[in-house]
Amino acid sequence: MKKKLQLNKLSSEVINQIAAGEVIERPSSIVKELVDNSIDAGASKIVIRIRDGGMSLIEVSDNGGGIPKENLSDIFLAHTTTKLANMDDLNTLLSMGFRGEALSTIVAVSKVSVTSKYDGEKVGNKISFTSDSESKVSSTPRESGTVVKVEDIFENIPVRKKYLKTVQTEYRHIVDILTPYFLIYPNIHFELFKNDKQVINLLSKEVNSGILDKDRVKEVLKQDFVDRMEKVFFEGNGIKVSGLTAHPSDHKKRTKFQHIFVNGRSVWDNGIARAVIQGYERYIPHGEKIPFIITININPELVDVNIHPRKEEVKFLNPYRVFSAVEQAVSKALEKLVSYKDVGKKNVGDSKAQYIPDFTRKSKDYASSKNITFSKRGSVSDSLKFSEAILKESKPLGASDIGIQTSFLKPEKEVGEYKAKEVVSFYQIFKKYVIVEFENEIWIVDQHAAAERVTFEKLSKSVEIKNTDIQNLLVPTEMGITHSDIEFLKEYKKMVNNLGFDIEIKKGRLSIKSIPVEFVHADIEKLFNDIFDMDIEDSKKNLDRLKMDMVATMACHTSIRAGQRLDIPLMKDVYYNLLDCDNPYSCPHGRPIVWRMSIEEIDSKFDRTY
Ligand code: ADP
Ligand code: MG
Repeated sequence: MKKKLQLNKLSSEVINQIAAGEVIERPSSIVKELVDNSIDAGASKIVIRIRDGGMSLIEVSDNGGGIPKENLSDIFLAHTTTKLANMDDLNTLLSMGFRGEALSTIVAVSKVSVTSKYDGEKVGNKISFTSDSESKVSSTPRESGTVVKVEDIFENIPVRKKYLKTVQTEYRHIVDILTPYFLIYPNIHFELFKNDKQVINLLSKEVNSGILDKDRVKEVLKQDFVDRMEKVFFEGNGIKVSGLTAHPSDHKKRTKFQHIFVNGRSVWDNGIARAVIQGYERYIPHGEKIPFIITININPELVDVNIHPRKEEVKFLNPYRVFSAVEQAVSKALEKLVSYKDVGKKNVGDSKAQYIPDFTRKSKDYASSKNITFSKRGSVSDSLKFSEAILKESKPLGASDIGIQTSFLKPEKEVGEYKAKEVVSFYQIFKKYVIVEFENEIWIVDQHAAAERVTFEKLSKSVEIKNTDIQNLLVPTEMGITHSDIEFLKEYKKMVNNLGFDIEIKKGRLSIKSIPVEFVHADIEKLFNDIFDMDIEDSKKNLDRLKMDMVATMACHTSIRAGQRLDIPLMKDVYYNLLDCDNPYSCPHGRPIVWRMSIEEIDSKFDRTY
């Protein structure tokens, strides 16, 4: 026999506690709600006091507009808010809070007292609550603003209390939740006290709220990479994107330095994060993360902030428009970051030219060979002269005293310094790595990754303006291709031509009549097959990405490969051409190219101190 189930009507207290669980997960959620309220009240200074990871005390005081006496006891009622009157308001809302549930749920899980002086009244007032009692409102001296004091969190809900972690962990959560506020409100003076000791004091800056201030960012994150961050900006379609994004060399295994703000609210959105990372694809090792702070200002009608209990996520009416705005903002910033070189420098004629020398040696070989002809912009001898100029330039200046330790090749300024550094000698090991010996360190260069990078950069420039040296094939390479490949080639023929491939489709077969010189040793059929294997559907959304994907795929077939013995001149080419790259840090697939090791590091392995 079936047991009869009893249907219980939950008491309002239990209901409140359940609801509280969604909004108030842990002490840090209380901090967030209270700080939101202070910001909504127009505070220019907010002081947060935490004791025992917030478990025994959270106190947030502000100098905002305050709460009128007559409202004091009501603000703790569920769904009571001064910020929202009807559904229409929800669509235009810019305040942090709006559901009127924070204070009521906080009261459901702790002891709360509020002291506040409303701007329009003469004296301050005080009220205190527990989950089942409420004090009378009494007047009390206070100059301005509001203090909310929350004590004994989850004391009345042992189950939840049990789930709290250590004091230290809860405290860390609080700092993590505060960090975005510190970043996005440089106009607000924040103080944080941990067990009565001041641990953070961020003076306000003369900027508007929601505008990042680099000094504030540095004060908050305390990371050197902040200095190297680049401003991001895009405006259009009712969306404004601004913020800061890290230099590609500052990539991290994991990073907590990724922040997204939508209309001043800290949120997480995978789509936006992906849009940022997309811009970095060619510059950082696969799977690595990059620090960024992206702020998006968008018409509130185009975003729903009411989809998450703690408002940690938002939903855009037109997400792709937002992603594309972010992507554009970031790629613009990146372009600036990686074209740091002073291209006009002495013997470096123009920026395109600097990618030529790598292949001049081969050009010469092939030029002297009878059956190959060159069609080119800029004669072979020009390129040769140029190559020599670069080699000369890089030699005689002597070692500079840069601080050196073991690391992958990092920030941009270093590369410039290496151009002036004398190379003692070149070696090759394992048919894979070129060792470059300097006076006080060595570089281990992945020869294929380096060559790929050089070719990639050269080709990416010729996608727009043909500037590759072309080698005509005596006997064209022919291969069978599928119908969709033909369609693809038709569509992108000009691009393929610009890259230096002269192709023709005859009777359903592809005939390749000329190729860029750097592919003279490559398996052209395989190269084209790799291009056809690219995820075109995905790339089609954005022509620029498709171009770059194609170029990266081609660069992979570059003539210097792993497993190939290199003579000294080729090793030199690898090194000097790499120095001339916009981004010598990683190959187009994101693998690192250079590993540096200092003499000190090597000496220390042998316990040698001199
Ligand atoms: P919400 O923020 O969604 O309106 P809350 O429960 O957080 O809901 O707060 C309820 C109301 O209490 C707010 O609408 C506001 O009028 C008032 N309030 C709370 N904290 C403050 C504060 N620090 N300064 C001024 N008013 C406050
Ligand atoms: Mg609120």
